[in-house]
Amino acid sequence: MENKRIFNFSAGPSELPLAVLEKAAEQMTNYEGSGMGVMEMSHRSKVYDGIIKDTEARLRRVMNIPDNYKVLFLQGGATLQFSMVPMNLMTKSGKADYVVTGSFASKAQKEAAKYGDVGVAFSGKSEGFVRIPRQDELTLRADADYVHICENNTIVGTKWNYVPDTAGVPLVSDMSSCILSEPVDVSRYGVIYAGAQKNMGPAGLAVVIIREDLLGEAQKATPVLMEYKTNAENDSMYNTPNTWAIYVLGLVLEWVEANGGTQGMQELAQRRSGLLYDFIDGSNGYYKNPNDKASRSKMNVVFRLPNEELEAKFVKESVAQGMSNLKGHRSVGGIRASIYNAMPVEGVEHLVAFMKRFMEENPI
Ligand SMILES: *Cc1c(COP(=O)(O)O)cnc(C)c1O
Repeated sequence: MENKRIFNFSAGPSELPLAVLEKAAEQMTNYEGSGMGVMEMSHRSKVYDGIIKDTEARLRRVMNIPDNYKVLFLQGGATLQFSMVPMNLMTKSGKADYVVTGSFASKAQKEAAKYGDVGVAFSGKSEGFVRIPRQDELTLRADADYVHICENNTIVGTKWNYVPDTAGVPLVSDMSSCILSEPVDVSRYGVIYAGAQKNMGPAGLAVVIIREDLLGEAQKATPVLMEYKTNAENDSMYNTPNTWAIYVLGLVLEWVEANGGTQGMQELAQRRSGLLYDFIDGSNGYYKNPNDKASRSKMNVVFRLPNEELEAKFVKESVAQGMSNLKGHRSVGGIRASIYNAMPVEGVEHLVAFMKRFMEENPI
């Protein structure tokens, strides 16, 4: 099979490791001698039970998840978690504090406000979301049921570089765009959730990692399928789960393990993002990253060119150079290179070489 794959900088769904796609293709019509593909299997079958258990065991190994945490494989993306988190956790004082560092964090906060008393612990909106707040800038209530953060802000390209101290209040983190990109101390969190389509696998799957003591009774009107407890008690099989995406996540985790685990992923992320930020910072202002250096994301690198005409030209020419999806999010403009785990370092080298050429050919 001739391989004409391009470097795909999409923010999500995004590039998957080629080895994963090839293995999925090889097993597409007949999974390990079962005589059928994974998509065709009963989720209650013995073969599929092996697949989902193996995926969970790998995730536990790769992320070093403590035994007192449940792993749930749900649908509805990260967005449904914006609703499920408050419906399940705003049940004691009915209060929750949200740190608003970007548009997904803001969506999560607005959704939660339907279900209880939501405090904004910090908002970076007036500054244009260019940084993550310091610990001493957070206004946290001691009696909140939880504190919510968005670990990596996919659209503006910022990332928390510390775990905030919430003084014992459970910390809930949206890790959609950085999960598996670095080691995480899961025990510091009450809930971690992520839509799979950035760093984990196909769209249509959300992974929730929840400390067992938080699996209480949800708010009264919570649909049964949206209760963490129901999903936990039924091993994510209260109804039919996204069997295919869970299987592909297993393949991705196998690939992560074979490539040095989260430590290996962190080193690669450091190299990729370092190449880009160093080039941007050394471009005499031709390319500009607007964010506070200490808050820069290693997964989503955003930058501006001297004007919008040049940005449009840059995007257009990048496609001819074998790269795709470099256009920034429609809400912020500019350029965004999403460089998740599956992006080879060569992809970023290719991009940087193009940026250098473009700057020379289009002086200001
Ligand atoms: C992409 C993304 C979402 C939305 O995910 P869906 O799976 O499309 O619902 C939420 N939060 C973050 C941080 C994201 O990057």
